Amino acid sequence: MDAKKRTEIATLGEFGLIDLLTQDFPTRNASTLRGVGDDAAVIAPPAGEAVLCTTDTFFEGVDFDLTYFPLKHLGYKVVTAAISDLLAMNARPAQLTVSLGVSAKLPVEALQDLYEGIRFACKEHEIDLVGGDTRASMNGLTIGVTALGHAPKEQIVYRSGARQNDLVCLTGNLGAAYMGLRLLEREKRVLTDVKNPEPQFKGYEYLLEKYLKPRPRTDIIEALREEQIHPTAMIDLSDGLASDLLQLCKASECGVRIYLDRIPIAQQTSALADEMHMDPVVAALNGGEDYELLFTVPLEMQEQVMRLGLVDVIGHITPASTGAFLVTPDGQDIRLRAQGFPEK
Ligand code: ADP
Ligand code: MG
Repeated sequence: MDAKKRTEIATLGEFGLIDLLTQDFPTRNASTLRGVGDDAAVIAPPAGEAVLCTTDTFFEGVDFDLTYFPLKHLGYKVVTAAISDLLAMNARPAQLTVSLGVSAKLPVEALQDLYEGIRFACKEHEIDLVGGDTRASMNGLTIGVTALGHAPKEQIVYRSGARQNDLVCLTGNLGAAYMGLRLLEREKRVLTDVKNPEPQFKGYEYLLEKYLKPRPRTDIIEALREEQIHPTAMIDLSDGLASDLLQLCKASECGVRIYLDRIPIAQQTSALADEMHMDPVVAALNGGEDYELLFTVPLEMQEQVMRLGLVDVIGHITPASTGAFLVTPDGQDIRLRAQGFPEK
């Protein structure tokens, strides 16, 4: 950043800044009647479809650290977080608003980097940036993202639809983003006060990618639709498997049994956990920010789901009275907890 040009935000003013940031955002969806530039955006979902809306907020120092988080990636990641929630409802993301609290310490170029990431995500997922707000902040960067989507009412999948004996299905692998964060934090600690820091990330590139540039699982939603698999319940994994699965169980008024040896963990996740004397299962259960999808389907759909080749079946739904458990390979039942290592 040092070698880069630095333009103070004050030289542009609020309107100049908004114009600069929001240029080159073409409208891609017929449902967007009016985007940036009026008092409100105007949206008309396809006839008969419901509108879905979700918001996430990100605070510098709490949700991201700008010493190692490239702003371009951050722009991409906040869009992933927002649309992942819509995908988890089986809806199609279509519009986005972005609200900024910006401190004077950030130059205009940094915000342009942020918007480059947002622009890339909008193009990749065919969504329209339709508005936002730009304010000054005293305490670092704040980013609020609201995503809108639509879906035929009968296709919406809620957290509350899981039924006894349903299979618990999971996309991708877990704990990689959390270990990516741990790696970045370690290198930051080690390299504080080093003049020309050269962080050591070799062999752990996948972990960094999962943390810095997670991709929303649009592919899964499309594959399920193509195969006519309609999940009974679904949630996206942002807080960690244990916490998010418990949310699903609560909403569905059910219990669950998942099997430890079926939880998918990437090789790099295990390798770094070993190196840091951690249990990779803890990263998988409690790490968070995986942005994978967890869904349930009736038992009869096992073969059809396995044929997708994109998911692991990690357990099944039980009655509420039996509780939520992780079963170890030697047959122990460990009660799932929202945080910390699960206890007996
Ligand atoms: P108002 O005073 O009506 O809130 P603003 O001057 O704040 O309008 O915003 C002008 C237009 O620019 C609006 O369409 C608004 O949605 C959009 N906008 C403002 N800030 C941002 C931003 N950070 N990102 C995207 N759009 C923005
Ligand atoms: Mg405004």
